[in-house]
Amino acid sequence: MSEKTILVWFRNDLRVHDNEILLEASRRADKVLPVYCFDPFYFTASAYGHQKTGSVRSRFLLESVADLRSNLRALGSELVIVRGDPAELIPRLAWQYKVSEVYHHREVAFQETAISEAVETALWKIKLNLRHFIGHTLYHKEDLPFPIKDIPDSFTLFKKKIERESKVRPCFETPDHIKTPLIADAGELPSLAELGISPPFDDLRADFHYQGGETTALQQMHQYIQMLDHSSPAKNAKYHTEKPSRLSAWISLGCLSQRMVYHEALKQTQGTNASGSTLIIELLWRDYFRFMFKKYGRQFFSAGGFKDEAPETADNQQYLFEQWTQGHTGVPYIDAAMHELSATGYINNFKRQAVAAFLINNLKVEWLKGAAFFEEKLIDYSPASNWGNWAFIAGVANDIRDDRYFPGVKQADTLETDSEFISTWLADSSSQLVAI
Ligand SMILES: Cc1cc2nc3c(=O)[nH]c(=O)nc-3n(C[C@H](O)[C@H](O)[C@H](O)COP(=O)(O)OP(=O)(O)OC[C@H]3O[C@@H](n4cnc5c(N)ncnc54)[C@H](O)[C@@H]3O)c2cc1C
Repeated sequence: MSEKTILVWFRNDLRVHDNEILLEASRRADKVLPVYCFDPFYFTASAYGHQKTGSVRSRFLLESVADLRSNLRALGSELVIVRGDPAELIPRLAWQYKVSEVYHHREVAFQETAISEAVETALWKIKLNLRHFIGHTLYHKEDLPFPIKDIPDSFTLFKKKIERESKVRPCFETPDHIKTPLIADAGELPSLAELGISPPFDDLRADFHYQGGETTALQQMHQYIQMLDHSSPAKNAKYHTEKPSRLSAWISLGCLSQRMVYHEALKQTQGTNASGSTLIIELLWRDYFRFMFKKYGRQFFSAGGFKDEAPETADNQQYLFEQWTQGHTGVPYIDAAMHELSATGYINNFKRQAVAAFLINNLKVEWLKGAAFFEEKLIDYSPASNWGNWAFIAGVANDIRDDRYFPGVKQADTLETDSEFISTWLADSSSQLVAI
């Protein structure tokens, strides 16, 4: 009898822990062919003229893929690395290695699902099935107390029902060993230059160093959870506000599973109050946006969103937008945050809200431009989290009444900043920008 081989197509699930597709493939097949494909689409410019993936995230991605390869090698396997259109390369590899099925994790945003559909169509032509798994959320879609079409639009209601009526599944085991076919050429990790990306400049003012991959993700998660004071929800929340976890970059690329974070936090509290911990509530926001994307799809990408009415824009919005991107608005808090974002790829949630609200409400620039700029710059960019949050701030999302989360970011010019990222240009600034 011939041996069965399953191709595991890694995308935003760059880990061996809690990875259903890897475990399931290793159980169902004699051999597993793990593949990562660098798709040139992600290294082109977006419709708004910004790189889809900027230099900070590109480097983080390369580190993450390298770490996945080394973790797979430790399990006796390999990661085949290719560069090109997945709709050509995945079927080609499937044919070359006589694969009987291809596994991947389902995405929700339209560009990502279009790529899956193209791969699925190409595989059908060679009579192969692309099997979709659900693996990016804390709560499994099938454990929700409502079908996707009936998920409450209000985050508050979503959270209440889900916490009362659903359970987070346990993590999947990591396979002990993965048998892989004999691979003639596993491919090299591309360089940033080969991806068309300039190397990032490591700004000495950055207060946190990111290293891609699940190895560092797990270290950061353990360290962070230990630092939280689990005896007191109030102290826990205070600590988290001052010092957020920094886990988003790893979660967005799937180097870290949210379920793993949840269960580790639960262990620390011995099951008492983790569901109330701030970290877990933040993870629920991530699920919420992802499920909203599943429910509504492309509506989150249009200027008018759910209201079909875009916020007002200024005639000189292109000029104002450029000043904002460069941190030259004349408002210290905003400019410092924008410099920090460009230099490091990260700003905390409050700063993201403040700069987004300033762009939309004060400068009167189309919010889609800001969201596309974030797409390039953020180290943790993830379509549903980014475009969903922007749509909320622009007031065009599905749940405009639920404004508890955006407690009216204070007027930006009343916010003080002692950020080191302000110093480079402040001396030259004379006045604030205005929309005319
Ligand atoms: C305009 C705007 C754009 C954003 N774009 C992104 C993005 O592209 N990718 C991204 O991961 N997050 C995005 N966020 C959400 C949030 O700002 C970041 O997840 C958070 O700041 C990351 O830092 P942390 O890991 O220290 O978060 P923590 O506060 O420690 O939270 C833990 C985790 O919860 C999740 N989370 C927290 N807040 C949110 C939120 N508001 N929405 C969704 N998930 C959340 C993240 O996965 C985060 O890692 C955006 C927020 C705004 C306002």
